[in-house]
Amino acid sequence: MSGTIRVLDILEETMADGPGLRTSIYCAGCAHHCPGCHNPQSWDFAGGKEMSVDQLLELILDDEFSNVTYSGGDPLYQVEAFTELSRKIKERSGKTIWCYTGFTYEEILADERLSMILPYLDVIVDGPFIEELKDRELLFRGSSNQRIIYLKGKPDESIPGTVALVQPK
Ligand code: SF4
Repeated sequence: MSGTIRVLDILEETMADGPGLRTSIYCAGCAHHCPGCHNPQSWDFAGGKEMSVDQLLELILDDEFSNVTYSGGDPLYQVEAFTELSRKIKERSGKTIWCYTGFTYEEILADERLSMILPYLDVIVDGPFIEELKDRELLFRGSSNQRIIYLKGKPDESIPGTVALVQPK
């Protein structure tokens, strides 16, 4: 049986959440409550509507050209269902997956539950939004503490803030 994800919004063919065309899934729920968060209406875990992983999978695969981004809210609060979705996307396509999260990479690695998704992601953009480090010039990030971490593949060094990390075994 497929899991479900509480979805606030889906943007198709967007260029705002990573390089190239992407299908962006904005999920509901975030407990980081960063001061100055661009989207506090996304904090409610009961917000949006429930969609099955398989519904989302079909919508993502229907677009032959777009890669995929998860944002929110924080997708890692629904890590089981996003892991299932990511595994299925990787089984059926060559799409890359970017995931935005308010957790740092180190926090994710230290948590067995959160880290279950890492083998299926290409990039995480990590860490909370910090208002004092906000910079409108940053590409694909809100504040300069956030890192664009390539878990696999060659980092795109033309994007400032890009970091390569070796995927844990
Ligand atoms: S992690 Fe993102 S969605 Fe959550 S409070 Fe911080 S900026 Fe807002």
